[in-house]
Amino acid sequence: MKLYFFECGILKSQKHYFTAGRGLLEPFDVPVPAFLIEHPRGYVLYDTGNALEVTIDKKKHWGAIVAAYDPVMTEDQWIVNQVKRVGVQPEDIKYVIMSHLHLDHAGGVGHFPKAKYVVQREELYYAYVPDSFMKGAYIRADFDKDVEWFILEGWRDNKFDLFGDGKIIIYFTPGHTPGHQSILVNLENTGPVFLSADSCYTIENIDEDVLPGLGWSPSLSLQSIKMMKHLRDEMGVKIITGHDPVAWKQYKKAPEYYD
Ligand SMILES: [Zn+2]
Repeated sequence: MKLYFFECGILKSQKHYFTAGRGLLEPFDVPVPAFLIEHPRGYVLYDTGNALEVTIDKKKHWGAIVAAYDPVMTEDQWIVNQVKRVGVQPEDIKYVIMSHLHLDHAGGVGHFPKAKYVVQREELYYAYVPDSFMKGAYIRADFDKDVEWFILEGWRDNKFDLFGDGKIIIYFTPGHTPGHQSILVNLENTGPVFLSADSCYTIENIDEDVLPGLGWSPSLSLQSIKMMKHLRDEMGVKIITGHDPVAWKQYKKAPEYYD
């Protein structure tokens, strides 16, 4: 197996959106990650970054939220082009696992024609009818597509084993949104790697018990973070957080990979 890290541009933002109560008005540029896994049974994407439209007219596509999260992305950094650059065609992608459907994750939905899109039922529902404070983070044009959804049902499907071989396990990690999910990838040489996406933005959220700055349920967020802290400290799992500019710099990026 191979695990590739892609950077689908950055968001120019402020730190307090990521660490509640810390870094008010402090400029904070965060990566927009997406991941490709080469599994013997097929290619799997975890998240798809920003939509191509943000390279053309981001205010038109994202609206007023660009004042808080300003996307900077080139056409080369769009997920479809990054996948092609490592020699994989969009039609070769078998599953696209959606951590959640926020605008910096769902920008590639519909561009992998043979893929099943793995999403939590609650997330898909909430994306259409979000609370007012979350409305700006869901762009209906990104996810309202005629794709084959592969629906998971929250706690009932927690630790869903995608290929039944223990290599890619989908964890239900609600809090940031009602239907957030993360994945554990068991690599031969690197060992177990947990891709948290936005259930945990930065290492600071884990190490210092700082709440993520934006979230649907702070209480569930803390439970999810506690679970991954346990994975890390008791089971030696490497945690890759969702938008950590410091940690992100240390990782190998495509075309390099972890195996
Ligand atoms: Zn995000």
